[in-house]
Amino acid sequence: MSTRSAAPRPASPSAERPAQRARRVQQILRRLKERYPQVGLPLVHRDPFQLLVATILSAQTTDIMVNRITPVLFQRYPTPQALADARARDVERIIKPTGFFRQKTKAITHMSRSLLERFGGRVPLTMEDLITLEGVGRKTANVVLSAKRLEVWNGGDNPADGLGIGVDTHVRRLSQRLGLATSDDPETIEQQLMAIIPRAEWDTFSLRLIYFGREVCTAKRPRCLQCPLNALCPSAPFRGNPPWMRHRRPRGGGRGPGAGRLRRRPKR
Ligand code: SF4
Repeated sequence: MSTRSAAPRPASPSAERPAQRARRVQQILRRLKERYPQVGLPLVHRDPFQLLVATILSAQTTDIMVNRITPVLFQRYPTPQALADARARDVERIIKPTGFFRQKTKAITHMSRSLLERFGGRVPLTMEDLITLEGVGRKTANVVLSAKRLEVWNGGDNPADGLGIGVDTHVRRLSQRLGLATSDDPETIEQQLMAIIPRAEWDTFSLRLIYFGREVCTAKRPRCLQCPLNALCPSAPFRGNPPWMRHRRPRGGGRGPGAGRLRRRPKR
C-alpha cells in the first residue's frame, strides 16, 4: 500500500468538489496500479473474432465457464464462415453450460453472418460498427477496443475508434461505492467515468476494477478493513453499503453486466 497521504475521503459523492475528486481519482488509480501492475483480458482468445464471441457468451456467466467451453467451440468453428454455417443445435450443445444458450447461439451465428456480409469476415475495430452487430452493446465493444490497444493486433490506439470504459457489474458497483458515479445506468456511469479518468487509463482502469471487485470489494462482503482504498472511499464507514446505494436493487449477482437484459435481448 502507498505511504503517500490520501486525498480526504468525502462524506458522500455529492459533498465533493471536482478538484478534490480529481485528486482522489489520481490516488485511486495509483493504488490500483500498485496492486495490479499488469492486467490482461480474462477471456482466452487468439484473435478479435474469438474475443467477440467469448464476450457475447460471457453474459450471465463467469469467465471461467466461458474459457472452459470456447476451446471446443473454436476448434470446431474457428472462423466467422464456419460459425455462420453451423447448425444451431450443434452450437447450442457446446455452449449450453453458459446459460441462455439459444439466444447466445442466435447472437453469435447472426453476428458471424453480419461479419461476412458487411465487413469481409473481419471484426470492425470501431465502436460505431461494432454496436451494429447482433449481441454487441457498448460493453462488449469496449472489451474488443481495449484489446486492440492492449494486445498486438493491427490496432493500437486511435482516439477516433470510439473506445470508452467497459462497465460491467463490478465496475458499476465499485464506481458507486467509490463515489465516482452517481447513476445506476451503465451508459451514464460510463460517461461519468470518462469525464474523470484520463483516456490513457480507460481500458486498464476497467480491468483493474474488475479484478479488485472480485478480490476485495465484492458484492456481498466487501473487505473494507483490509482495503487499500479504504482512506479514499466514502463507502468505507458504511462497510460498502452507503445510503446513496441503498435504494438500488442488486443486479447481476457478481456476474456479467446487463443481467436481466439478456432475457429480452442478448446485447451487452
Ligand atoms: S473501502 Fe470497502 S466499499 Fe470502499 S472500495 Fe474498499 S472494499 Fe469497497
